Amino acid sequence: MTTLAIELKPNSHPLPAAEREARLANPGFGRFFTDNMVTIRWTEGRGWHDAQLVPYGPLELDPANMTLHYAQEIFEGLKAYRQPDGTVALFRPERNALRFQHSARTLAMPELPVETFIAACDALVAQDIDWVPPHGGESSLYLRPFMIAAEVGLGVRPANEYLFVIIASPAGAYFEGGVKPVSIWISQDRVRAVPGGMGDAKTGGNYAASLLAQAEAAREGCAQVAYLDAVERKWVEELGGMNLYFVYGDRIVTPSLTGSLLEGVTRDSLLTVARDLGYQAEEARVSIDQWREDTANGTLTEVFACGTAAVITPVGSVKTKDGAWTQGDGAPGPVTMRLREQLLAIQTGNAVDPHGWRHTVA
Ligand SMILES: *Cc1c(COP(=O)(O)O)cnc(C)c1O
Repeated sequence: MTTLAIELKPNSHPLPAAEREARLANPGFGRFFTDNMVTIRWTEGRGWHDAQLVPYGPLELDPANMTLHYAQEIFEGLKAYRQPDGTVALFRPERNALRFQHSARTLAMPELPVETFIAACDALVAQDIDWVPPHGGESSLYLRPFMIAAEVGLGVRPANEYLFVIIASPAGAYFEGGVKPVSIWISQDRVRAVPGGMGDAKTGGNYAASLLAQAEAAREGCAQVAYLDAVERKWVEELGGMNLYFVYGDRIVTPSLTGSLLEGVTRDSLLTVARDLGYQAEEARVSIDQWREDTANGTLTEVFACGTAAVITPVGSVKTKDGAWTQGDGAPGPVTMRLREQLLAIQTGNAVDPHGWRHTVA
């Protein structure tokens, strides 16, 4: 099978270098976008076609576009890091491509071939390579591939036309001036996903479902929400956009994939990185009671969250309806920081890449 060729029609008025540099000096997250984007269309009977790299800009949407009404939307998030030799590498893009296919199946959308997903990421990064921050920090170029229904109409059924888009945004270090532990609110009333639903798909709908609990967490003085399973309201699943790990000395445990939590690429990578560093790493069910009791008895030494945006975020404190506790001594723990450092070193090219996770952009 040949990969769909991407027609290159780049922006003829890219942002002047001085302005780009000013943005790269303090990019934040998701505030600035590069000069270009990639778009690919799918139509029933014709399949994927019209792959183009074009200037970044607004999409024209009919008010009756089906996405606006029935939310057939999926997305991905991955980072391009500047390597010590000046080249740029994506981190495990094939995992994102495969997850995108899984998300598409869950929402009755067409699957974009893995090669096309990666070729589209490559084309955008190659064109906007000057937007990739320099090597030496935690900054990166964040890629946001997504797909929406492109058909117009209010009939409820899977659309027969779709639009795939990739945009790119420079991202600064998640933690300015050092890693800071996050506070967690455990949501015992609201859930984000149900068995048989779409919790293991990366779709905006799951984020919409998480926002009310997120606002509740903010009122409780917490930065993030941890969700429990929807049936027993007992098993810890994940945060709204990050997976969780529990550290028991030299054994680390992440909640098993139940179908209602998202399989993070960071989560998966850490199972391997941890074993490479000599830790025992496993997937298991963890209950809210176990979390509380093992913290109290001192066996649960650290908890951290992980995802592409923050890599690893230590959990410093936890609050529930029935009480609150400090996680460990509230400061980032040594296992958390060791894993964070090692994963970042692989991503940024400061460590060898024994599993072939770096994908160099041509
Ligand atoms: C994207 C996401 C994650 C983290 O996945 P990574 O591939 O590690 O970035 C975790 N949970 C949810 C709900 C997500 O959407």
